[in-house]
Amino acid sequence: MAMDFKSRVRRLQQALAGQRVDAVLVTRMPNVRYLCGFTGSSGALVLAPDRATLFADGRYTVQARQETHAASVRIAKGSPSTAAISSIGRATKTVGIEADHVTVSQMDALSKAAPKVRFKPLSGLVERARMVKQPDEVMQLKAAVMLASGLFEVLLHGITPGIAESHVAAELEYVARRSGAQGMSFETIVASGPRSAMPHGVASEQAIPAQGFVVLDYGVILAGYCSDMTRTVHVGPPGRKQRDLYQAVLDAQLAAIDVVRPGVQAGKVDQAARKVLRKSGFDSYFTHSTGHGVGLEIHEPPRLGKGQTELLQAGMVITIEPGAYIPGLGGVRIEDMVLVTETGCQVLTPTSKELIIL
Ligand code: ZN
Ligand code: ZN
Repeated sequence: MAMDFKSRVRRLQQALAGQRVDAVLVTRMPNVRYLCGFTGSSGALVLAPDRATLFADGRYTVQARQETHAASVRIAKGSPSTAAISSIGRATKTVGIEADHVTVSQMDALSKAAPKVRFKPLSGLVERARMVKQPDEVMQLKAAVMLASGLFEVLLHGITPGIAESHVAAELEYVARRSGAQGMSFETIVASGPRSAMPHGVASEQAIPAQGFVVLDYGVILAGYCSDMTRTVHVGPPGRKQRDLYQAVLDAQLAAIDVVRPGVQAGKVDQAARKVLRKSGFDSYFTHSTGHGVGLEIHEPPRLGKGQTELLQAGMVITIEPGAYIPGLGGVRIEDMVLVTETGCQVLTPTSKELIIL
């Protein structure tokens, strides 16, 4: 399925009037990629109501023309954003810029290149459009989820007491690339034993101990789209406390999934997970939010955290990943990717969530 860049560009062009700008300058690369397909490391996309032009530098002469859809391509001699702003006609009086991305020095350069233009900082304009995935994007995300899930066996295979966490991650990443992944969505987390109590324990040189939890959090990139999943396994027989902790996190994860449907505030999903963990006394060990959007970037809006009022919409793809991390005892996190549907949601990650004992 070809990506539908034309409709993305059109939708943003239609939003310009509402933002009271004559054009918008998009320089945040995931947004440039979303709108026109160009995957380079720098570039600038100018969108006016009747035209879309990508400016790239000389390194991308071939690539920009190959990849770019729904926009014409111009190769800039110097900075793409300066070239872009210099190219706009005199009728363009107000240009929107990405407030959360443009630096002070870039702003200076833009003002110098176009002294008559009024720049209007806009926040999250493209990111808001990206929150609701189009069918072609959902398809890519599902493919990334399936590829990663298929690699879980490889991970399990590698978990042997005495083997370094980094070796387990390296094996996974090697097979992932051989299986067609463009790369990993983020630095693979293999956190074993006491390290499992660190929510962001990227694989270290530490050897897997003979006893304890191992948190495995990883994802692959396929056609630019990221996947994200976490499973926690136990090496050696788990004690009563460990079983209770695992069950509490699993119950919290299922409870959160249960409330996902269009119209629900993102914060309510987080609340549902916390409520379950409170019952078993683990809520104070749940130190991060329940989930996040996923797409061209691993962390995108919406954020499923305390008090978040963003309403879920059909087409959003989010993670549901409560956890509890108890120093000394260990940590558990369980994470699925979930598609918000018209009537509720669909869990995309097919991997079993029963406690695996190795
Ligand atoms: Zn994750
Ligand atoms: Zn995540």
